[in-house]
Parts: sequence; C-alpha cells; structure tokens
Amino acid sequence: MARISDSALDDLRARNPVHEVASRWVTLRARPGGRYAGPCPICSANTASRTAGRFEVTADKWVCAVCFDGGDVIRLVERVEGKSFREAVESLGGAGEPEPELMAKREAEREERRRRAAAVEAERRNQERARCWDIWGSAQARSPGALVAAYLHLRGLEMPETRALRSALDVPYFHPGPDGKPKLLYRGHAMLAAIQDTAGTFRGLHITWIDLDQPDGKAWIADPETGERLPSKKVRGVKQGNAIRLVPSLHAPSRLVMGEGIETVLSPWSVMRRAGRDLSQTAFWSSVDLGNLGGRALETVPHPTETGPNGAPRRVPGVMPDMSVAGIVIPDSVTDVVLLGDGDSDRCLTENTLRRAAQRFAAPGRTIRLAWARDGLDFNDMLRGRV
Ligand SMILES: [Zn+2]
Repeated sequence: MARISDSALDDLRARNPVHEVASRWVTLRARPGGRYAGPCPICSANTASRTAGRFEVTADKWVCAVCFDGGDVIRLVERVEGKSFREAVESLGGAGEPEPELMAKREAEREERRRRAAAVEAERRNQERARCWDIWGSAQARSPGALVAAYLHLRGLEMPETRALRSALDVPYFHPGPDGKPKLLYRGHAMLAAIQDTAGTFRGLHITWIDLDQPDGKAWIADPETGERLPSKKVRGVKQGNAIRLVPSLHAPSRLVMGEGIETVLSPWSVMRRAGRDLSQTAFWSSVDLGNLGGRALETVPHPTETGPNGAPRRVPGVMPDMSVAGIVIPDSVTDVVLLGDGDSDRCLTENTLRRAAQRFAAPGRTIRLAWARDGLDFNDMLRGRV
C-alpha cells in the first residue's frame, strides 16, 4: 500500500481539529488558551466522574493523565475505536493529496500556532513551578509539621522523618468556574508533598487539604455548581516521571516500596515500623498517581466488562510500556521492588498499570513483586481495620 505523505496527513489533521473529533464521544469544557477538558473518551467509564477533567485537548493534540497517553487526532481515533492507523485515517475522511499552495499556507498557519502555543506553555510551566516553590517555602517558614502528624495519626499512620512532607496553614484551592477560568473556592490547612525528579530537583507539589474535624481528615470542598464533593487533593507542577520520596532509606536502598497515594504507601511502612523491622535500606515512594506509576503504554486494550462513552468496550492502557516516553526511574541499588495495588479502584486498569510498571522497572538481578489490598479496600482502609 502506498505510503501517505506527510502533507496529506497534515491536511487531514487540519480538517479534523482534535477537540471537535473528541466531542463526538464526550462533552468538553472550554479552558483558557484554546484548551478543552473533560472526561476521557478512551478510559473514562460512563458513570465515572472521578476521572472527569483528566483529558485535555487543543486543536492539534490531546493528552489523558489516566491513560498516560496523548498525540494527534489519528492516534485518538486509533485509541478510542481500537482502529489501525489506516482505518483511523479512512474514518477521518481519508488522506488525499492537497494542492501545494494550499498545503504551504496551512503548514505556515499551523507552525505559527505551534510556536505560540509552545511559548505560552513554557511560560505557564515556569510560573507554576515558581508558585509551587513559594507555597513550599512559606510552609517551611511557619510550620513544625504538627498538622501533618495529626492528619497521619487520624489515618492510623506514623509520621516519617522526611523532607518530603510539610504542613501549611493557608493554601488556596482553585477550581474552574463556568467560564473555564480558575476561581478561588477554598483556602485552609494542607499537607504538602514535594514532587522530585530523578536528580532530586523540586518539580511540583501534591497538596492535600486537611480538616481534622472530618472523619477522613480531609477538607470538604464542594463544587458550587453541582454541590458534588470535589477531590481534596491537587497536583501542581510537573509529575510525569517524577515521584514523592516519602521515606528515604538511611543507605542506598536495596528495596523500594512504591504505590499511588501517600496514605497507601505509609500504611505498610507504619506497620513495619511498629513491628520494629529494619528499614534502613528500604525506601518508600508515592508515584503521585496511578498512570505515573506505570508510565505510557504501547497500546490500549478493551476492558473485559465495561462500556466506554462511545458505546464500545471501554479501553484501558495495556501492560506493555512505551519505553520511548520517560517514566519514573528507580535507583540502580534497588534489587527488590514491591508495587502496591489498591483494591478500591478498577481492578483491570490497576493491574495493567502495575504489570506495566513491573516491565518498566525490570533489570537483571532485580525482583519485582505486586502486593494487593483486599477487594474494595485500599491499604489504609486495611490498616484502619475496615474489613
Ligand atoms: Zn484516558
């Protein structure tokens, strides 16, 4: 079969803006800067509101934090409908060879859009890192960590000796309003966790708003439009390939225990510490979220039981890692990796992610084990006796 020229593919992409194609399957909300966000047409279940807003698109490309995937409009159709590249191209109207003059004009327009978007994105990232660093710095100046200790105690957890967590007294919580612009919805006490890259450089913050009067210790923040409880956690800055090094080891770690959430990872650590286990060579890391634990997948696979927003089986990221996209890097000294799987999120999605992480972290002489919480529970539920 004849190869499709780059010009023809560019023409097809210009005729099919990503946000318009994605809107066939899901309802997207406009955000500032020509961006749109909403449920992911690939991985979100019909009923799942917890993943809403993890899918972001512009006219040129899309990215999903849960799928840990992204790309152009052709890749979106491949992923949503399980089509081959050729089938996706056909379903988008096919790739005919455009007139050279028209092609040159479109290419120039697209290049200008790309250049502007890249400049805006670079500026946004710089500002965001500076804001995160300010929040982190102000916490250091004011807080002894007592708030974090009290929160962890409420969750049945010990307070680790760590530089990764800080208490902050007054952290703003922003949420997109009806016009898509962020609005200040809440401010209050929070647990801050530093997100670091492989070199240990500060890249962002994981923020948990705390209210010790609530049974789970987390602030009750409601969406003023729907009244629905919003997540009391937010990630700011850059998380991809980065991690929260919750409990460092005294020496170069030979064992690494890693899971999605802070409370999940601190649960086995608290149990082992109370039992007097020698943890001087064991490090405990949070991957910030599940997608970041496994990194980008090579392909999506159909969910065994669930249907997605387009009526076909919901698709989830598969078990083969895409090693061309950087993920979390673990220290060479680690010979034993334990990956924690919570039992309260979708089993298929979680299991694929952990198996993908296991392949990503595989190295000669290294053992990788998966540890599962009981069905319907996370490790912190189990620690607190919610069986
Ligand atoms: Zn997705």
